[in-house]
Amino acid sequence: MSQLNTFPLSFKVQGQRIVIVGGGEEALNKARLVTKTSAQTVIVSTQITADFSGLDVTLIERPFRESDLDGAALVFVADHGPDGSAAKCAARARRIALNVVDVPGECDFYTPSIIDRAPLTVAISTEGDAPVLARLVRARIEAMMSPRLGAIAALAGRMRQRVEALIGDGGARRRYYEDLVQSAEIDLAISTDNGNIAAEALLSRHLEKERVGSVALIGAGPGSEDLLTLRAQRLLQEADVIVHDQLVPGAVVQMGRRDAEQISVGKAKGHHSFSQAQINTLLVRLAGQGKRVARLKSGDPMVFGRAGEEIAALRQAGVAYSIVPGVSAALAAAADTATPVTLRKVSSGFVMATAHGAEDADLNHWAALAAAGITLALYMGKSIADTVASRLIGQGASAQLPVGIVVNAGRPDRTFYRGTLGQLAGGAVPFSAGPAIILVGEAVAAGDWADAADVAAEHIKVA
Ligand code: SAH
Repeated sequence: MSQLNTFPLSFKVQGQRIVIVGGGEEALNKARLVTKTSAQTVIVSTQITADFSGLDVTLIERPFRESDLDGAALVFVADHGPDGSAAKCAARARRIALNVVDVPGECDFYTPSIIDRAPLTVAISTEGDAPVLARLVRARIEAMMSPRLGAIAALAGRMRQRVEALIGDGGARRRYYEDLVQSAEIDLAISTDNGNIAAEALLSRHLEKERVGSVALIGAGPGSEDLLTLRAQRLLQEADVIVHDQLVPGAVVQMGRRDAEQISVGKAKGHHSFSQAQINTLLVRLAGQGKRVARLKSGDPMVFGRAGEEIAALRQAGVAYSIVPGVSAALAAAADTATPVTLRKVSSGFVMATAHGAEDADLNHWAALAAAGITLALYMGKSIADTVASRLIGQGASAQLPVGIVVNAGRPDRTFYRGTLGQLAGGAVPFSAGPAIILVGEAVAAGDWADAADVAAEHIKVA
């Protein structure tokens, strides 16, 4: 396991000085960073060449003196001459934390890349190794944070004593703060300076009735963490309990809070460890205990996810619920293979259908749709792919229709197969392990299936 050679911490500088020795661009860059703090920033140099106007700094234009370090919390040396050397010695003699700009070997500390929503700070550090990476990560995180977060964090700080006094239970306190920092109402109130009033109102509402539980039906997407929506990620973080299907990979479930309870309700093909009725009862019971439940389903919860039954049970029990869409497997398969499932003049629509349990009447209907150019995405059909293909042909679909199959769509280990409906009907290949989507229709031919193996057993490529 690799270990950190530095320890990130928040160092108190209030009421102290931060001394920067040097007057050029390097000194200016450090000054920009440290003037975000309330410390007094002092620049000492015989040659102040950079433009420090607009920054709240004290300029001392003369050689460095040891007494410049009186009351200093941090020292930056951005001077490669004798002043710099003198300052380094003095800082070390006084044991003041020292940063020698661009000389990592001489530094006691490095400056991270900072997102400033004072008092909230996010610092990103690569121990000096990859500042460019730190800046890229920073830009991503910055985009996720409201500019008013700092004010909201300060508000949470002001509410602390009252909340501690009035809400005894730790979980309930956490829920109050979660509401406080995320509520659109507070965000709005703070922008008009009414944050305190709104925070008090929220507090009385919390005291009135300790939060009731709720269930969020969350689409986890096809299985890669980065195909989760931001909302899904947020609700997972808030959840007290995560109830998930077998198809949702562990890495996605782990995106919840570390202390959240995790319940796997199985539902892998052939292992019905919980019946649907048991799952419905479980969700209602957990919410009834005041918990926030994340019901995590693969793909989109409303597509072959038994969401209908779960929603009906929640409604009947009067449990609050919400639904977060996810990337359904068929769309991940289309993306993986650059297949436009609708295509001008070729396919005017797209049908998500289940192969498992399909009646002849269904297949008859889909065969007609496929003949009319509609693209079919068949779920739950891998083990019966050849049978479904021949039944579709039996119901009037052309054996020449292009077919494409994606196993583990949207995941790093995806694999592809292609051919015609006729070839698939002739005896499917042993597909690689994992869930699969079968795409059928003329539009499939417009995709990029270059890496695909043939669907028919006799044509299988030997890897
Ligand atoms: N709600 C899910 C579907 C659940 S039904 C969604 O919207 O995607 C289970 C079926 O989904 C599987 O039998 C398979 O056909 C399909 N499936 C789920 N994840 C998949 C994946 N990563 N790649 C290919 N197919 C997948």
